Amino acid sequence: MPYKNPEDEKAYRLRSIENRRARGRERYHKNPEKYRASAKAFIERLKQDPERLEKVRQKRKAYGKKLYQDPEYVKKKKEQADIWWRNNRERSLVIKRAEALRVKIEVLTHYGNGKLVCVQCGFNDIRALSIDHINGDGAIQKRLYHRNHIHRWLKLNNFPLGYQTLCMNCQWIKRDENGEYRYKQFTNYSPRISGLQSIIKNGDSL
Ligand SMILES: [Zn+2]
Repeated sequence: MPYKNPEDEKAYRLRSIENRRARGRERYHKNPEKYRASAKAFIERLKQDPERLEKVRQKRKAYGKKLYQDPEYVKKKKEQADIWWRNNRERSLVIKRAEALRVKIEVLTHYGNGKLVCVQCGFNDIRALSIDHINGDGAIQKRLYHRNHIHRWLKLNNFPLGYQTLCMNCQWIKRDENGEYRYKQFTNYSPRISGLQSIIKNGDSL
């Protein structure tokens, strides 16, 4: 059916696209399991063919990029995310923490030479394991680069050299032995416990 006015034709096309989408949504909500299963099967089939999988990935990426160039779309997505966040605060916290933990495990394992352990003593409880800056310039690096997100930062930067996984015991011992104190200019006078111990043992007075 040809339209005399091109604007009318455009409106008709948009309407028909919207109608088609609405019908699709209706079909989906009548029987979501069926559609989820077929989507899963599609992905499984794709995984068999890496070349095609890569193609599909690139296509989807390009499509996403195109969408996000439209400020209206970005605004809509932000609003949707905002509503979701307000309605699912607890869940979003759980998701974020789980993701942070996953990254932490990955990073600590990488810097523990493939194991989730302290490289000095082999201690393996993740609650007391952390990343050590081998050169002892952690405070500066923290201020410059990663703030409180060291694990994420290390992963994003493809695991740079100069870090290791240590347990907190080994961290404190290293700090004491290397004199890694906050006021570096006073390092000669900083109260190293190992130094003080020998003084006490020798019976010298301070
Ligand atoms: Zn240790």
